[in-house]
Amino acid sequence: AALDRVRQEQGRNNAFITVLGDAALSEALETEKQLRAGARLSPLAGVPMGLKDNICTKGIKTSCASKILGDFAPPYDATLVQRLRAAGGVLLGKLNMDEFAMGSTSETSFYGPVRNPWDLTRVPGGSSGGAAAAVAAGECWYAVGSDTGGSIRQPAAYCGVTGMKPTYGTVSRYGLVAYASSLDQMGPIARTAADCAAVLDLIMGRDRRDGTSLEVESGGLLAGLTGDVRGMKIGLPADCFGEGLEPEVRACVLAAADVLRARGAQVEEFALPIMRYVVPAYYMIAAAEASSNLSRFDGVKYGWRAEGYEDLTDLYSKTRTEGFGAEVKRRILLGTFVLSAGYYDAYYKKALQVKAVIKRAYDEAFEKYDLLLTPVAPSTAPRLGESLDDPLKMYLSDIYTVPLNLAGLPGLSMPCGFDGGGMPIGAQLIGPALGEAKVLGAAHAFQ
Ligand code: GLN
Repeated sequence: AALDRVRQEQGRNNAFITVLGDAALSEALETEKQLRAGARLSPLAGVPMGLKDNICTKGIKTSCASKILGDFAPPYDATLVQRLRAAGGVLLGKLNMDEFAMGSTSETSFYGPVRNPWDLTRVPGGSSGGAAAAVAAGECWYAVGSDTGGSIRQPAAYCGVTGMKPTYGTVSRYGLVAYASSLDQMGPIARTAADCAAVLDLIMGRDRRDGTSLEVESGGLLAGLTGDVRGMKIGLPADCFGEGLEPEVRACVLAAADVLRARGAQVEEFALPIMRYVVPAYYMIAAAEASSNLSRFDGVKYGWRAEGYEDLTDLYSKTRTEGFGAEVKRRILLGTFVLSAGYYDAYYKKALQVKAVIKRAYDEAFEKYDLLLTPVAPSTAPRLGESLDDPLKMYLSDIYTVPLNLAGLPGLSMPCGFDGGGMPIGAQLIGPALGEAKVLGAAHAFQ
């Protein structure tokens, strides 16, 4: 049924880059056999899922939606893929995205833009737009995406589903194609917070192949969901509800705060003035790390190689000129610039100092509050094509999501209503480091 659904929807929303068909079916039948024989795999055994195309899958094309990776099929599975397979997860296919996860609309894919299932003239958000669209359209029950500056949470908001970026280090990054290694985390996109908890239970935990992964106990999040927010203190940062936020989104997120208040939480406003620095700090750090991480794509080691080159330098240059799209090139140039001698102190080093200040501001907020509540994005999903000529405007729209990556904190995006045009609106719950249970618990209470 899931494969039929994918076949119906793919021509409309273009959520997948690769659909596995028969391979998925035999995986499902194999899982069924094990379950019938009495195997206890996991609550998600047999449930069809999709993975963003920057997550390595053994023998299955992993393109990062870029021409430069061509038909690259990794020789190994990412750690979380191994864990999901062992738990009986059934992989339907690989999901479309912005090229190398750089973008907020899923329009920069070499495989064509993804469309929002709620309105095909609109973007699904990005960069995990295929993941959010596939879950929203009922093609798969959950998906795993990556979030460097909002790429799980913002598409979840635009598509009316639930998405969570865990605390940095909760999920092993082994097998995730790196964009900005100090900010990248993977996490679930699903219908509800409870479904996200079930997925996180399977994929979280220490992995010796990722030195930044934390010694966190896996399992227990789903079982621990109480749905009770009585006595919880929730802070609303006033600086996230000011200028630039669409009135309909503001009203909807404040109504979500009222729901939590009615269920027994104490909600109050406070000031978070660092918000004005988060976008510039994020884009400098993300671009700097990207320029370094992407230097490995040179036409020699992976994927696609340009033809008609004269020597090695020409091979690198032709392959990268033809293989990367415009947005990726913009990031590489920006990153190389802020890291270059003479500018390093003024830009990159300054951005790292600002990052520390941002982290401190959140630490202080969590001395007073259990959770924070903000919008996910300033507006609902824009129309296709609207963001392409104005990258700066697109970058600015990441304001509510990027500070969590800079501070390493967990955040969840949950649907909280619709705008006048019927497009979904998302609210973001933010927790202290390793506060996944609190975040999921409050979202579950709301849902
Ligand atoms: N929109 C942000 C960017 O382009 C975030 C992307 C992400 O989280 N991968 O960098």
